[in-house]
Amino acid sequence: MQNSQTNTKERIQKFIPITNEISPTFCLAKWHHTTIYLQTGETHSCYHPPPHSIPLLDLLKNPSTLHNTNQKKLERLEMLNGDKPSGCQYCWNIESLGQDYISDRLERNSTIYTQERFDQIKNGGWDQDINPQYIEISFGNECNFKCGYCHPKHSSSYYKEIKDYGPYTMVKNHRNDIDWFTIYEEEDNPYVAAWWKWWPEVSKTLTILRITGGEPLLQASTWRLLDEIFKNPMPDLELNINSNFGVKPILIERFSDKVNDLKKNKKIKDFKLFTSIDTWGHPAEYIRTGLDLDVWERNLDHYLSKTDLPVTFMITFNILTVTNFQSLLVKILEWRKKYNNDQQNRWQRLRFDTPYLKEPLQYDMNILPKDEFMPYMYAHLNFIEQNVDDNDRSKFTNLEKEKFLRVVKYMDTARYSGEKIFEGRRDFANWFNEYDQRRGTDFLKTFPEMKNFYNLCQDLS
Ligand code: SF4
Repeated sequence: MQNSQTNTKERIQKFIPITNEISPTFCLAKWHHTTIYLQTGETHSCYHPPPHSIPLLDLLKNPSTLHNTNQKKLERLEMLNGDKPSGCQYCWNIESLGQDYISDRLERNSTIYTQERFDQIKNGGWDQDINPQYIEISFGNECNFKCGYCHPKHSSSYYKEIKDYGPYTMVKNHRNDIDWFTIYEEEDNPYVAAWWKWWPEVSKTLTILRITGGEPLLQASTWRLLDEIFKNPMPDLELNINSNFGVKPILIERFSDKVNDLKKNKKIKDFKLFTSIDTWGHPAEYIRTGLDLDVWERNLDHYLSKTDLPVTFMITFNILTVTNFQSLLVKILEWRKKYNNDQQNRWQRLRFDTPYLKEPLQYDMNILPKDEFMPYMYAHLNFIEQNVDDNDRSKFTNLEKEKFLRVVKYMDTARYSGEKIFEGRRDFANWFNEYDQRRGTDFLKTFPEMKNFYNLCQDLS
């Protein structure tokens, strides 16, 4: 562990003098990474700067404006001049802590760097259009789920709830107002039309394409894209899809056949599927409204049985995961045993990641009283520790243990101000009372072990 961390750090540091040749604030992600939300016509280079609007007039003349907006070009110019675009403050904060701290900028520079990309930027004008190496694309917000911490911009079901019942005006965080943005329908969305105009050009250099949502398997453009790639192979492409895996089984069957065809016929280099699940049982269905675990597990089984491809579970560690996480860990061990075998060409098909959620505040685990809830976290950690074996793929790895240890330590040491805790707990009570009413759920029935905390929050609402 220590060694692999040291190697990664050394590799990243090796690129610092190279990219400093352009400027000490240069970030290749500004040129070569992009996330594009076609349903709202917005883009950003990475998750830290807020997304900004893609001007429709510019787009009509040049479809690459989906990524190469004037705003991004001006930010690139700032970087070329050694200035710091304000949207990238996250990285500047990390770097101000000292040379031992690795920002996302430094990390991305080391992974995106090739001599060709570097030379193009160095020798071309600041306002040149760039074909990015990595695109994350959302074709629309159509989604059959409305996970509590998601947003109407990314879920049509959530959008409909807000239209029917209005925003959550009783909370300070995550009101989910919908009157400040427009959602374009996929069928007559000018941003989707621009995407297809840009595709023949951008597909020439793209190496990673990640389709996100909404739910991609409910969107016609996803299926069209799979067919386009089949007709015009991209043997250097890694294709990723985020699916909620809660769609009708017939779609999963069709999807499994399509990715099998792409992979077996070498039309793409690799394929990875990502799916979100935060815990198991009724608590999981409570968090992700629309989730039916029977359907989800049947879809998972079909995909893993019919393909030899991996699945990554994105476990967003939030306040409602704290007491129940172990139930999901047990399932992961069960799936690892069932779906890994000696014939597969990868060591592990069932992967998981445990990033922790920080927003909205009522879902942040750090508003829980530590004395009552840290024991749950240490029990989960203990369960992982008891099942660690780097040489057995039906167990957990040391790296997974280390990653979860970071979440545990973070919760153990994070100390919010009294004011922030008060705000989070008051929103917790107001939010889940309203949520239960709108969605016909019952918080206390689902999380009886959180009764004391729930009552504590009720007293503040
Ligand atoms: S500098 Fe940091 S925040 Fe800005 S684009 Fe690069 S990685 Fe993202």
